[in-house]
Amino acid sequence: MRLTIGADIGGTKVATGIVDEHGRILAKIKRPTPAANSDAIADVVGDTIEELLERYPDTPVDGIGVGTAGFVDEERSTVVFAPNLAWRDEPLKRRLQQRVDLPVVIENDANAAAWGEARFGAGQGTNYVICITLGTGIGGGIVTDGSLYRGRFGLAAEVGHYRVVPDGRRCGCGNRGCWEQYASGRALIAEAQDLATTAPTRARRLLELAQGDPSRIQGAEITQAAKEGDAAALECFRAVGHWVGLGLADLAAILDPERFVIGGGVSDAGDILLDPVRESFIKNVTGRAVRRFSDIRTAVLGAAAGIVGAADLARR
Ligand SMILES: [Zn+2]
Repeated sequence: MRLTIGADIGGTKVATGIVDEHGRILAKIKRPTPAANSDAIADVVGDTIEELLERYPDTPVDGIGVGTAGFVDEERSTVVFAPNLAWRDEPLKRRLQQRVDLPVVIENDANAAAWGEARFGAGQGTNYVICITLGTGIGGGIVTDGSLYRGRFGLAAEVGHYRVVPDGRRCGCGNRGCWEQYASGRALIAEAQDLATTAPTRARRLLELAQGDPSRIQGAEITQAAKEGDAAALECFRAVGHWVGLGLADLAAILDPERFVIGGGVSDAGDILLDPVRESFIKNVTGRAVRRFSDIRTAVLGAAAGIVGAADLARR
């Protein structure tokens, strides 16, 4: 058995696991991310790695892969910039190698999760997969011809900031009209809260689930109401699904994947989300009269994708 370790560093928690060559997590440790203290984050990651190594003293571990929020340089060693982690030019690979004598590879977290999903999850069986994670924003990863596409400077696949509306809604990145302002989990919540505020009678069920307070409507309430067949909640999914499908159509025009895999909390709604996504995709993609359509599926690995993907990248 050949093992590697994968770590997933997010804004709120660090999750590290020891993973076999089939993408199975044998043991996992979770710790809160000391996000405000840049030195302490690397220490926490190092601690979790050492603890896992101690648990498997007799099995060789071949390497360590780390997926982290933020921009990772083309050498896959330094986190150039991570807005939520107080990191600027953080030499993460060097720091971890000071603690453990193993090869280390650093990757952007969305790329690592996409790789995990492509190799061991809903992307299995094809070498052309684009993974999209709908959360607060939109994370993306592109696998083409069986390889993770990183771009020249390691910054490829920032699909959430693809501009779908010129001069549209303001985005945290400084631009306007980015895809994630229309097609993310946050966009779904904004849609439902807006509906509940402006048309409370139509949004009665949503408001009921949120104790009458529009600001308490979150993804779970919208998904529950939609699963019950509530028209207002379904309308919110249709609105967001339309934007998701539109963005996928543009990505298909450029990258022509065989499959899109949609993850993140919003994808728990399954076909309630995917039906309007597919409809919008087919309506908008170029060459629709003649082309073969990409298959659109939900992700299956959930939060484990980041660990599994980072661990597998450490094998390569
Ligand atoms: Zn943006």
